[in-house]
Amino acid sequence: MTKAIRGSLDDNDLLIQNAYIGGVWTQGKGAPIAVDDPFTLETFAEIPDLGASDTARAIEAAASAFPAWAARTAHERGAVLRRWLELLLRHKEDLARLIVRENGKTFGEALGEVDYSAGFMELYCEEAGRTLGELIPSPTPGRRLMVEREPIGVCAAITPWNFPLAMLARKVAPALAAGCTVVAKPSELTPLTALAYAKLGEEAGVPGGVFNIVTGFAAPIGETLCSSSVVRKLSFTGSTPVGAMLAAACAPTIKRLGLELGGNAPLLVFNDADLDKALDAAIVAKFRNGGQSCIAANRIYVQDNIRDRFIAAFAERVSGMVAGDGFDSASTIGPLINSAAVAKVAVHRDEALGGGARIMAQGSGQGERVFAPALLADVAQDALLTREETFGPLAAIIGFSTVEEGLTLANATPFGLATYLCSEDPSLIARVSRGLEAGMVGINTGLISTAVAPFGGVKMSGLGREGSAHGLAEYQNLKYICQGGL
Ligand code: NAP
Repeated sequence: MTKAIRGSLDDNDLLIQNAYIGGVWTQGKGAPIAVDDPFTLETFAEIPDLGASDTARAIEAAASAFPAWAARTAHERGAVLRRWLELLLRHKEDLARLIVRENGKTFGEALGEVDYSAGFMELYCEEAGRTLGELIPSPTPGRRLMVEREPIGVCAAITPWNFPLAMLARKVAPALAAGCTVVAKPSELTPLTALAYAKLGEEAGVPGGVFNIVTGFAAPIGETLCSSSVVRKLSFTGSTPVGAMLAAACAPTIKRLGLELGGNAPLLVFNDADLDKALDAAIVAKFRNGGQSCIAANRIYVQDNIRDRFIAAFAERVSGMVAGDGFDSASTIGPLINSAAVAKVAVHRDEALGGGARIMAQGSGQGERVFAPALLADVAQDALLTREETFGPLAAIIGFSTVEEGLTLANATPFGLATYLCSEDPSLIARVSRGLEAGMVGINTGLISTAVAPFGGVKMSGLGREGSAHGLAEYQNLKYICQGGL
């Protein structure tokens, strides 16, 4: 099935076209699913289309593996994760090549994604041994009140295409550290990085059944995972409508939910902002991963007195940007994931232009899925792109006058994932960061993601946190033990 791969791998064994169930690499019975390169549009690999019965098999494998994995000491589990981390770093370039090939992002960004993923592996191999219980002073004599942390059990992980390695490692590392076992379903658009990650896990000594990957079309796999009473947690990263649908499907079996959903991040630039810092923050917050990030600055609000200078400097940066092949070192950003994504960005641009916006700068780019980076100014406060995630390289500048107005506009969304603000005034920073309805606030920076901090949203952006010690607790149940007669 393997065809010659552009950006060829040092270790060809990492290009895997089988699913992974109970420690066995598995072919599908039906027609395989093509994996396309979003830049060349070439089909370069195929993965099995597994349905409900194979998903049920994966759940059984995870359930069988659970008691022995949970019974290992946290330090033993941490040691397996440590070996996996070392393999991840040893194969960093190959993993990055796979990410570029199936997702399209630039090789530099893909290397950054591997490092970000390694951060979760490193954090949780250490956190595994730091899960402490509690001894509570008893109000009644002769009793000992204790709290222990136990692994939840079998967990399902459903991940999107935009960060195919990081979104998976962010779930699998804490789950395995806590003693849970996992059945994962990567996006059908980007399954290969996940399969290579599983292969390295196998080499690191992750026992069969502890980590399973089911590839295929989403609906039957999702239905089986959600309706299973054996699966005790669903951790989902993706869009809000799909997250809401899966949460409803999990309700009858009362699963723990982790939902990392859509965002619509505002970035506020106040009059007193340092222009260079604000520009750097806006460029990275908007254009990282070609704008295909849940924390992308979708709405850039700029206060009256700094707006002209900010737009002029931003335009200069955008006109030098190049969209193209992720393997070409001249590319600032890669192609978009599919033609629907390109069409959506064009609709957002055209609707804003129809409402009075002006194009202030355009970068260059060629290719069917390539959208040349663009900057719009004078965007109306109610433009379509202020209401929906654009998920592409279109920066939109919207004006505001007072601090109160800026805050009100920033919060005028049902989403609450990331927010950004640029200012040098400590009291304004404190007031605005407190007033923003969001799970995360970046101040004078557009790069906030790190494994050691809690990532997650409020409102319709989701439930729970990933990363940090809080991310480990999401995979644990508290057990209260009351010992009397002492
Ligand atoms: P999506 O359509 O919701 O897909 C996400 C995952 O869900 C994919 O694996 C997809 O599989 C699967 N899926 C789709 N329909 C399903 C169903 N009926 N049952 C079970 N699984 C199903 O989202 P996307 O377009 O891939 O990703 C972009 C969205 O993710 C954006 O809204 C972005 O903001 C959000 N996101 C959030 C975070 C965060 O941390 N909050 C991080 C990254 C992305 P297939 O791809 O195989 O169809």
